[in-house]
This record gives sequence, C-alpha cells and structure tokens, in this order.
Amino acid sequence: MKRAIYPGTFDPFTNGHIDILERASNIFDEIIIAVAVNSQKKPMFPAEERAEMIRECVAKYPSVKVDTLHTGLLIEYAREKKAVAIIRGLRQVADFEYEFQIALMNRHLCPEITTVFLMPNEKYTYLTSSIIREVASLGGDVSDFVPESVLKRLKAYLKP
Ligand code: ADP
Repeated sequence: MKRAIYPGTFDPFTNGHIDILERASNIFDEIIIAVAVNSQKKPMFPAEERAEMIRECVAKYPSVKVDTLHTGLLIEYAREKKAVAIIRGLRQVADFEYEFQIALMNRHLCPEITTVFLMPNEKYTYLTSSIIREVASLGGDVSDFVPESVLKRLKAYLKP
C-alpha cells in the first residue's frame, strides 16, 4: 500500500492540480490531498471550503482523499499518515529553487519520505490559482481552467 500526500493551498483547485493528481494516481495506491490553511497567503476561500470543492472534484477517484492541514510540519503529517511520498507539481524553472529547498529540508527531517516532482501537460505550465482568482475577480471567463464545482463557487463568491 503506497500512500502519497499532495499538499497545497489550492485556492482554488485548478485543472493543473487535477493533471498532477491523475499522474500521481497512476503511481500510488492512495493520495491524500492536504489543504493548507496557509493564513500567510490570505486565501480567497477558507480551508474547509477549499477542501469541500476538492471533494466534489475528486469524487470520481476512489483512491483520492481530502484533508485539511491546520498546524505543524507537513513532514510530520506525512509520517503520521504513513505516506511514502510527497507530491509536488513543477511547472517552470521558477518553481524549482523553492521546491528544492523544501524537499531537501523534508528529506533531512524524514529520510524515508521522498518528494516526487511531476510535470503537468504543457497547457497548464502557466496556470496558477492566483491568476484564476485575478481573472475571475475582474469578470473574466476561467471555465477552461477550473472544474465545474470551482467555477460555481467562484461565481457565487464574486456575485455582487
Ligand atoms: P502552494 O501554496 O503549496 O504552492 P498551490 O495550490 O499553489 O499551493 O500548489 C500546490 C501544488 O500544485 C504545488 O506543488 C504546485 O507546484 C502544483 N501546481 C499548482 N498549479 C499547477 C499547475 N498548473 N500545473 C502543475 N502543478 C501545479
């Protein structure tokens, strides 16, 4: 039984996240999406709502679970869950330096858990949750980039 944790802010969940999730599902038996509360980033949606949206989006994947990560180190959470890996998406070189630093620190803290980087389809290389929030807030159509349940909540959130 190989379990992996896919952590992130997911504010909101996008088709790029789904791309990574599908690739990870081909490798691991179970994936736990760990939604970070991440108050530093001042998210648009509260963590519970982000998790709820993701649950709606991943209902069709039986091996995917969703949880919220309130406090403490991610690596400790991964250890508690008996995960063998942490999944991160790599879009561009810009992601690399920060991700590398964290992956090495996590390996230092817990050598048995491996960080696995997956690359999405090229069409998602420039897709970020922040660009979705920005375009949606300005009234732009983001339906090509987010799942239906996210689109619905974005519309509800932005309704005047
Ligand atoms: P975080 O605050 O942890 O960066 P994000 O929700 O922005 O949270 O991203 C979570 C993970 O998903 C990260 O590993 C990020 O690189 C990856 N990711 C985000 N957007 C994409 C995308 N368009 N394609 C592939 N991976 C992505």
